[in-house]
Amino acid sequence: MSKDAQSGGHAHPPNARAEAESASRSPTIGDDAFAPEPQLEPPTARGEPDRPFGPDDRLACLTIDLEDDWYFDDPRYDHLTLEYLDDFVELIDGLGVPLTAFVVGKTLEAYPEKVEQLRSALGTEFHLHTYQHDVSNEFDFEEEVRRGMRAYRNHFGTDPVGYRAQQGNIDPDGFRVLERLGFKFDSSVFPSYRPGVYNNLTAPTEPYTPSTASSLLEIPLGVHRGIRIPVSQSYFKLFGRPLSSYLGVSPLPNVVVYNVHLQDLYRTASHDKLAAPKRWIMKRNLERSTAILERNLSTLVSRGYELTTMNGIYDAYGDR
Ligand SMILES: [Zn+2]
Repeated sequence: MSKDAQSGGHAHPPNARAEAESASRSPTIGDDAFAPEPQLEPPTARGEPDRPFGPDDRLACLTIDLEDDWYFDDPRYDHLTLEYLDDFVELIDGLGVPLTAFVVGKTLEAYPEKVEQLRSALGTEFHLHTYQHDVSNEFDFEEEVRRGMRAYRNHFGTDPVGYRAQQGNIDPDGFRVLERLGFKFDSSVFPSYRPGVYNNLTAPTEPYTPSTASSLLEIPLGVHRGIRIPVSQSYFKLFGRPLSSYLGVSPLPNVVVYNVHLQDLYRTASHDKLAAPKRWIMKRNLERSTAILERNLSTLVSRGYELTTMNGIYDAYGDR
């Protein structure tokens, strides 16, 4: 039995309501399978805990990667999703959940007013998501991080404490570099498998310190344990209602980092520019995406998860 399977079945049983809801739905595949879920209560905001969280708590964090959508080499397609920032602010404000953003250095330099809008309207917590989001990996990692830190410092006046690599792409040496540069945590690792991008099927699903670091905490992105499908908006869109229903009963780690991008929620001309099959994948269930997000966050709350920020999770696990 794997380490992951052994650590399953933690003391908290799935909430009875979640089980009943899940049982009453018959999962079907198809674009029409995702009907609105009017009965769910909104998630409870819980950014500032009234007691310290610890590793026994079930903690969930909604994170957004603030970046250009697909980095087309065409200025007419630059950061088109930012046009929807007002809608996104209204959505998150209505849900009342704390938001943590990992922001790309170049985005910070080009759209500081958008970053400020997120911060002032939602009290968003910010960390760094690379400087240029280069998915070719043909760059010096340390220089990339340092440039990102400069952009972050110029805007916020402080150093970032958390880092997220592009497309989950970080190697063991990267952890060492981040620690040396003063980062407290990283949240890049999908303990999952994406052909040609990463294979982390044996990576821990709970926060851990990588062997190449001495104190840096890796807070991996959430996955359904066992099948190891990420608890990320893009996957819920792709698999539709069956996966959202499964979230009500699936084996989950105690820490669930739920990731979303603006392009997972809002359609722009960039979607039409994608090549198939990615174009089809990204458009699938796009019109229902905000409803899917709302339902999934409610499901996590009904399963006993406290919604907090990345710093909230770090405080529960770090410096121990
Ligand atoms: Zn990204």
